[in-house]
Amino acid sequence: MKTCKNCKKTLKETDFYNAGKGNNQTRAICKRCFWEKEKPKRIAKRCELNKYNRERYLKPKIKEKILEKNQKWHKDNWETILPKKAKRFQENSWARKQQVVFFYTKGTMSCSRCKEQDIDLLTVEHINGNGIKHRKKISSSIEKWLVDNDFPEEYDILCRNCNWKQYLLKKDIY
Ligand SMILES: [Zn+2]
Ligand SMILES: [Zn+2]
Repeated sequence: MKTCKNCKKTLKETDFYNAGKGNNQTRAICKRCFWEKEKPKRIAKRCELNKYNRERYLKPKIKEKILEKNQKWHKDNWETILPKKAKRFQENSWARKQQVVFFYTKGTMSCSRCKEQDIDLLTVEHINGNGIKHRKKISSSIEKWLVDNDFPEEYDILCRNCNWKQYLLKKDIY
C-alpha cells in the first residue's frame, strides 16, 4: 500500500504508474491524479496534432495520399469492418445508405467509375440497368431493400454524374 501525495488516498501499488524506464519505483501520485495532472498536456498535444493534420490535409498531394491510404486500408479490411459497422448502423436511412455504399464499394465509399467520395452524390445502380422497373416493384427505399435482402450481387455504386452519363449512353443520345 502507498499513499498518494496528491489526493492523500492510500492505494495499492498497481494504482501507481512506474516512475520511468529502468526505474523500479512508482510515482508519488496515483494513476488518477497523474492522469488529471497530464490532462492539459494531452489536450494541447491533441490540438497540435489536429492542427498539423489539418494543415497537411490542405496540401492536395498529401490529401490524395491520405485518402489513398484510407481507401486501401478499407479495401483490405472491409470484410472484417462490415460486421462491426453493421452493429452500429441504426435503423435510419442515412446509416443504411452508408452501409449499402460501404458494402458495394468494398469500403472505399466512392463512385466505381470516377472515385467521387461525396456520399450525397452516390447512388445505387442496378448493373443491368433495370433499376427504375425494380424500384417500382419495391415499396421501401432501395437501400432498405438491399439490406433486407442481404446485399444481392448485381448492384454497383455510381455518382450522379456517372449515373447520368450512363443513362445518356444507353439512350443513344450520342
Ligand atoms: Zn491521487
Ligand atoms: Zn462517378
